[in-house]
Amino acid sequence: MSINNHLKMGVIGVGHLGRFHVQQLQTIQNIKLIGIFDVNSTVGFTVASEFNTQNFEKLDELLDECDAVSIVTPTSFHYDIAVKCIEKGCHLFIEKPITETIQQAQQLLEKANKTIIQVGHIERFNPAFLHLQTKNINPQFVEMHRLAPFNARGTDVPVMLDLMIHDIDILLSMVKSEIKNIHASGVNVVSSTCDIANARINFENGCVANLTASRISRGSMRKMRIFQKSSYITVDFLEKSVEEYDISDELPSHIDSRQVFPLEGEKKKYIIYQKPEIEEHNALREELSHFADSVLSGQTPEVDGVSATCALQVALSIQQIIDGK
Ligand code: NAD
Repeated sequence: MSINNHLKMGVIGVGHLGRFHVQQLQTIQNIKLIGIFDVNSTVGFTVASEFNTQNFEKLDELLDECDAVSIVTPTSFHYDIAVKCIEKGCHLFIEKPITETIQQAQQLLEKANKTIIQVGHIERFNPAFLHLQTKNINPQFVEMHRLAPFNARGTDVPVMLDLMIHDIDILLSMVKSEIKNIHASGVNVVSSTCDIANARINFENGCVANLTASRISRGSMRKMRIFQKSSYITVDFLEKSVEEYDISDELPSHIDSRQVFPLEGEKKKYIIYQKPEIEEHNALREELSHFADSVLSGQTPEVDGVSATCALQVALSIQQIIDGK
């Protein structure tokens, strides 16, 4: 590995999101940004000069100098680029979804061998979601909404692979059970692939999740509501906030009375409302930093290739159900 325990990294594809990778990688202490490559050399030169880094005109030359790369190209190019990077001995941070097809994802995992792969399911690093790790989460019903205004970027894949896959990954990380069955519907409204979709996922342990994703909405919304025994929790991924409603048999002394609502019944119970303070952080910086730490310490990252493949499998199953296949 690199001198002084620094990870030498490059960015492949510096369009909308790739620019942010370049920006954040330059702020992470144990990463040395070597340079960038974009198939559109004008974009490459512009971003390189903006961030004062080197633009490589040949991908091989960038890979020869790097220990690891971020792949931030459109999804259809992830697989071919990732294979090339593995052959050159580079560890991989791949933007979500890992690949376009499940066959590609499985082949990538086979080829990876000792290569560390992390996939950009960024919501796992959202401070609001990270707060849930302090709670006992065992969902029985989950409602998820991810709505965005139309943007031609990302329409190379259906909304399940573009937006819903974030919620699928979050859901699979919380519900430790096999999927029993899925019901889904969706419509192509503006693009040639599905723009709005709804899926109801039934798990073997009885948990039910209802997911809605749209890229043709007027406004943006990224919300999750979790219902489980004795509590109801809402997570706003956009606002980075959490609200908790816990049912308690006792009236807690440390809680403001305005946050307590008595429940009438045979036995007195209370609903305790809390909105915890969530400390802001940049989720992209956190996930890239986690990737560098994982590579440097040889640990499996939080969102590895296997869990990203599971999320892709569910997203593609939803697509097949909608397509009637
Ligand atoms: P974009 O179209 O804005 O940028 C892609 C860039 O890749 C372009 O500059 C293009 O010239 C370049 N490119 C295309 N083919 C290439 C190749 N073979 N080699 C090198 N460069 C190539 O796309 P984007 O919105 O930045 O999305 C890129 C990826 O990031 C997609 O996989 C998308 O799903 C993902 N994404 C993830 C999130 C998230 O929340 N994690 C958000 C947006 C996009």
